[in-house]
Amino acid sequence: MNKKIVIVAPHPDDEVIGVGGTLCQLAKDTHVVVTLVTDGRRSPSGKYFDYEMAKLGYFESKDVAEKLGCSWNYLGFEKINPENIEKISSGLENILFIEQPDEIYVPHFFDAHKTHNIVTDLTIKALRVMCKKTEIWGYEVWAPIQSRRSSDELKLVEINPEAKRELMNLYKSRFEETDFESILGLNRFRSAFRNDKQLNTGKKNSYCEMFIRLNPEYIDNPLWKEKVSSKN
Ligand SMILES: [Zn+2]
Repeated sequence: MNKKIVIVAPHPDDEVIGVGGTLCQLAKDTHVVVTLVTDGRRSPSGKYFDYEMAKLGYFESKDVAEKLGCSWNYLGFEKINPENIEKISSGLENILFIEQPDEIYVPHFFDAHKTHNIVTDLTIKALRVMCKKTEIWGYEVWAPIQSRRSSDELKLVEINPEAKRELMNLYKSRFEETDFESILGLNRFRSAFRNDKQLNTGKKNSYCEMFIRLNPEYIDNPLWKEKVSSKN
């Protein structure tokens, strides 16, 4: 039986930045569900009104999922606040309950964006609806993974940079103001990454996405809690 995978993206584009290259491969023979939590309505440069940015993100994320052949699940919350956090939790629980995925991908614990931290937190709490064990992998968006402990389980996936570029180009509204080659720069660096386990591909001129296995129990780690509560 083929695996089932759920990718949780706090905003439209996070799934492409963190998992885009891997998704191009997974989606060929795996049931993948991409879930967009918020509508990403804030334009970094102010070029678009919020409603325009939200609308563009809706259609662009749909196009990406269609190109990949993935299922697309758009929760589309305007933002995360105390009033809607229960609804967001229910939305994530519904998806996990229905899909019962073998693997879940979320931004890693030490991402630099508070919304990402909250979505990871809520996804891990939603695991209570799972009827089986699932692997949780943290992906890189706005902070590189820093492996702090030799017990950390890391995974490198070699990707096709052209395929990832094509996906990024579909997110025109996000990437026309962002130097997305820098994201591929991190992927390029990852191909040479070594830790004490000598994790690398051994190939030159390759590109990789890196993931760290998230231990749900780590959610109670004081460092993580401090980070979530101190950022605004
Ligand atoms: Zn994001």
